[in-house]
Amino acid sequence: MSPLHHTGTIYDISVLLGVESITYPGDQPYNRKHTGTIAENGIFTVSTMAISTHAGTHVDAPAHCIQGSRNIEEYGADRFILPALVIPIKDRQSIKPEELKSADIKPGYALLFKTENSNTGRVSSGVYSKDYVGLSYAAADYCVEKKVGMVGIDYITIDLPGEPMTVHRKLLSNDVLILEGINLKDVPAGEYTLLCLPLKIKDGDGSPVRAVLVD
Ligand SMILES: [Zn+2]
Repeated sequence: MSPLHHTGTIYDISVLLGVESITYPGDQPYNRKHTGTIAENGIFTVSTMAISTHAGTHVDAPAHCIQGSRNIEEYGADRFILPALVIPIKDRQSIKPEELKSADIKPGYALLFKTENSNTGRVSSGVYSKDYVGLSYAAADYCVEKKVGMVGIDYITIDLPGEPMTVHRKLLSNDVLILEGINLKDVPAGEYTLLCLPLKIKDGDGSPVRAVLVD
């Protein structure tokens, strides 16, 4: 059934920018201010934003960490509308292949990992902490082997703290896109249609998205 004619549930898995979103250390903090308001000019309200391309719920393109590789606008919209599995993760340190083995993973699917980051509210806390669940290199390798189209993590980065983007590079160099900063707290494990369309940013290394799961 087309997601546009669904009768089931839509789960909004995006974090609220400027409130729940986490600024990665050293990155541009989210900053929005009004340049006009109806209260002042009587006609319209408009605002301007300073925002990282990796703010809040967002997609990473290979250009994020691989010199000369594909930018976000080079992907068709079909890469961002795809079947998805929400996989519950019990491990409190990292996602390991052992917890993925029982999932029925098909090529082109998005794998979304529901970890303690969602369950504890860490992903929507607005504050960066090194205490989070990330993807192990072995699990990234497993995702590549399974030829998935995307992996999603419920934190502002998918690499474990201290890792120099090795998991990012493993996935992105193998055409596995990365969705970061999703909140899966209220989403039961299972299969969905994921929609997470990025802005069409020229030479974009990534883009904030509004991510939803359709049951
Ligand atoms: Zn990112």
